[in-house]
Amino acid sequence: MSTGVPREGQPQSQVPYIRRNATLLQDLPEPGEQWRSKAISDELANRLVGLQNRGIVQRVDRIKCEEWSKRRCIWQTDRDAYGRIQTVLEEGDDNALLPCGHSAISNERDVDGVSCGVCGEVHDREEVDSR
Ligand SMILES: [Zn+2]
Repeated sequence: MSTGVPREGQPQSQVPYIRRNATLLQDLPEPGEQWRSKAISDELANRLVGLQNRGIVQRVDRIKCEEWSKRRCIWQTDRDAYGRIQTVLEEGDDNALLPCGHSAISNERDVDGVSCGVCGEVHDREEVDSR
């Protein structure tokens, strides 16, 4: 039976998500800062609810201003999640998604293959898929 209590913080789904999206997530402001969605890229802003569900960002407050018709949310980046993003970006690991040891997959339109958001190396799509 469900208790109806929402589960909070699911590192088991957060870590793979961070691995897949590290390049995108590196744009998140540092923990301790409070920010609005216009401080981050549109692509990231569109995912805020998903990021919140994974415990990567937290909604701090909602504010209403005369210049806005809707309430705007104030966010902050989760400190632990931010640390995981930095680790994935900087160190890479044995479970890395890319042959170069990083996991920051960056799909660039003009590149035939998968480029790494950390070192910039371009990998064959088949090689990446087979990992
Ligand atoms: Zn790399």
